[in-house]
Amino acid sequence: MIPFNKPFIVGKELDCIAQAVASGKISGNGPFTKKCQSFFETHYGFTRCLLTTSGTDALEMAAILADIQPGDEVIMPSFTFVSTALAFVRQGAVIVFADSCEDNPNLDADRIEPLITSRTKAIVPVHYAGVACDMGKIMTLAAKYSLLVIADSAHAVDAYYTGTLPDAQFPWQQRLKKEGDRYPLGGIGHLGCFSFHETKNIQCGEGGMLAINDPRFIRRAEIIWEKGTNRAEYFRGEVHKYEWVDVGSSFLPSGITAAFLWAQLEELRKIQDKRVLLWEGYWKGLKPLAEKGLFSLPHIPAYATNNAHMFYLVCRSHEERGQLMDALAAKGIQTATHYQSLHDSTYYRHKHKGPTLVNCKRYVNCLVRLPMFYELELAQVRSIVAAVKRFYA
Ligand SMILES: *Cc1c(COP(=O)(O)O)cnc(C)c1O
Repeated sequence: MIPFNKPFIVGKELDCIAQAVASGKISGNGPFTKKCQSFFETHYGFTRCLLTTSGTDALEMAAILADIQPGDEVIMPSFTFVSTALAFVRQGAVIVFADSCEDNPNLDADRIEPLITSRTKAIVPVHYAGVACDMGKIMTLAAKYSLLVIADSAHAVDAYYTGTLPDAQFPWQQRLKKEGDRYPLGGIGHLGCFSFHETKNIQCGEGGMLAINDPRFIRRAEIIWEKGTNRAEYFRGEVHKYEWVDVGSSFLPSGITAAFLWAQLEELRKIQDKRVLLWEGYWKGLKPLAEKGLFSLPHIPAYATNNAHMFYLVCRSHEERGQLMDALAAKGIQTATHYQSLHDSTYYRHKHKGPTLVNCKRYVNCLVRLPMFYELELAQVRSIVAAVKRFYA
């Protein structure tokens, strides 16, 4: 059987965990936490990074930092994971769901402006499958209407936006490492939220990270992270004692989690390269069928790179998707659909006032994800391609 996902273990995780245990410091904000955070700060130029216990927690921290008040509106796609919305709903936000693009599940940047009202506080783009949203348009709107941008970059580790951004209004963006004018995702927008859940490219079981790009949020982020105390300043010797100064929670992962994550980060390049190889194997094998109009393949806009987080097909109908998934399952190939529309969920249906979201609905009904994980072999990709071809023959 070929599973849909298999979390990759680099092999050095237990060594790193042993080091953390031997150091006698396994609570949060220890040596491995600092190593992981500075990896992202130096490698990608994110202003300040804080590890969290999950991507969901990073989003919750962002919603607190954005100072979302009851009734404030937040614009985001409906085709996303529940946490994208939940973090803001917990602060009392009204979620305004926007449709996806016609040729890609990302939030359609051309549909945002009509949704902006005097209550709009933030835009939350999700870089689906690690493919950048149209950040040039989104940051331009953010500048025009003074909105915060909080990028759900859960899929987007080591992925880039290659277009142009209105840098003048966002001076902190210039700090991003621009290898040939590439902006790393998670670094565009005031705050970026990553996940290291076992389904993501780089994983530690459950984990996440908040990238604080706009420096005005750094001090408060450290406080919220440490249960509403100024403990981080105390440890740096900036205050004589630490005390309760704000709201917050315990958003720090343990040193054991950070040690596991560090082992993965050391192999980031190897992991990404292998995934891209597999992704391209699917792409080359399936392109002839897509050209015949049997399904569509992931569309990567000219302004986006590909971190091979996911490989998916968009089938012609819901029924055909079901048949394809059954045919592949019969050959021992496990596949998966993806999100249900959040605007049409049991929890939110009654609160959603906007129009029907036709592109979102199509991805809910017709998108199918193929196996994609480090240990998958190119030969297996070829056999999956062959099985898809047999189905359509
Ligand atoms: C995985 C994911 C999250 C949440 O991450 P956790 O680490 O599981 O809490 C949020 N948004 C998106 C788009 C995700 O895929």
